[in-house]
Amino acid sequence: MSVACPSCGNTRSFLVKTLQMHVVQVEGTRVDVAEENRPSVFEVLCDECESALAFDQFDEEIRREILLMLGAR
Ligand SMILES: [Zn+2]
Repeated sequence: MSVACPSCGNTRSFLVKTLQMHVVQVEGTRVDVAEENRPSVFEVLCDECESALAFDQFDEEIRREILLMLGAR
């Protein structure tokens, strides 16, 4: 099994929190987003019991697929 919550055994539903940073430039009342990084995975929780899971211990193929779906790195 590639991905499983150690607490409740859930293998299907996970809550992935991402973090994205923006450089915002303000000139008077004009606002520009000068730079936008791709989001990175900040935290992964089990969607059933909300236990924190170690994303780096997910199966590599699954991890890559999740990052791809989220447009993250
Ligand atoms: Zn769980």
